[in-house]
Amino acid sequence: MKIFQCGNCGQTIEVPQGVPKPPSCPRCGASSAMIHRIDKGPPGGRRGGGPPWQRSPQ
Ligand SMILES: [Zn+2]
Repeated sequence: MKIFQCGNCGQTIEVPQGVPKPPSCPRCGASSAMIHRIDKGPPGGRRGGGPPWQRSPQ
């Protein structure tokens, strides 16, 4: 399952694996440019800096 969220109205859209990102928001009709995938962790991904065991403790 993949999860997308509409950046316009906040609607979350779940689609099965293998199904492409919806072309528009089913709730407000915003274009796919406003729809972002949200099930892959925080935006920006990894920040680098090596594995956790090499980081200095806080
Ligand atoms: Zn929407």
